[in-house]
Amino acid sequence: MITYKELGLVNSKNLFQKAVKGGYAIPAFNFNNLEQLQAIIGACVETKSPVILQVSSGARKYANQTLLKHLAKGAVDYAKELGYAIPIVLHLDHGDTFELCQSCIESGFSSVMIDGSHLPYDKNVELTAKVVEYAHKYDVSVEGELGVLAGIEDEVSTGVDSLAISIGTSHGANKFTPAQCTRNAEGILVPPPLRFDILEECEKRIPGFPIVLHGASSVPAELVKIINSNGGKLQDAVGIPEEQLRRAAASAVCKVNIDSDGRLAMTAAIRKVFNDSPAEFDPRKYLGPARDALKVLYKHKIVSVLGSADKA
Ligand SMILES: [Zn+2]
Repeated sequence: MITYKELGLVNSKNLFQKAVKGGYAIPAFNFNNLEQLQAIIGACVETKSPVILQVSSGARKYANQTLLKHLAKGAVDYAKELGYAIPIVLHLDHGDTFELCQSCIESGFSSVMIDGSHLPYDKNVELTAKVVEYAHKYDVSVEGELGVLAGIEDEVSTGVDSLAISIGTSHGANKFTPAQCTRNAEGILVPPPLRFDILEECEKRIPGFPIVLHGASSVPAELVKIINSNGGKLQDAVGIPEEQLRRAAASAVCKVNIDSDGRLAMTAAIRKVFNDSPAEFDPRKYLGPARDALKVLYKHKIVSVLGSADKA
């Protein structure tokens, strides 16, 4: 077993307390490769933002758990080398079993999400409590997934440190069907607004408790346009408008998960290189621009959407 403290990582406790009080949210950026990690750490050091490096179970399999551990340790050292030791959390996204959470904790994760939403309500609460008991022995933070608003107090009583709630966000680049949206003058889909009423109800029932937003990419129209004008075929892609995320970040929402926007930024940059320079075959020549585009995107999220700049 290696603890996250040995890797130089932190758990999310202090970060969330400060974020709730300060009216901003910590970025949780998913990663599974070197270029993404370089972009995340570069963007966060330059803006002096704390960061949650987020890994799904699929990403953990893809990258390999041994390599991941060293990448996370490398991220800590890399930030110092770039000139500013930002707080870095290594978080498991959507852990679905106790065993997976345990394995992550034993390989250096400082935070885990236990998502028992596939289980009946009682079993979800039971599983969440079991993960909390194990994780807290090692000072590891736990994010729970709330199936229904009705059970919010039960979920909090399991000892979780934060709760993912659904206020109308969703995963992926097609968050809503066209039928759920309206279209603006340019024909771009405009999604239904986030359910701020649910968020307010949570703030009333569990005041000051850290709330997490999943599926909070904005799916920028300009990225979709670059992808589609360079051979891509993304149809009716739609995300959450940034001004709504800004409003959420100013509330009890203290962690915002952003994955799809990073995928879009990388894909747009790579497609453009392939289209403009069909003879190019050096991976650095297309992964490099993808990394640069990612870094621009992350800095924008930190400074203009989440408000976490200068909070490290
Ligand atoms: Zn999620």
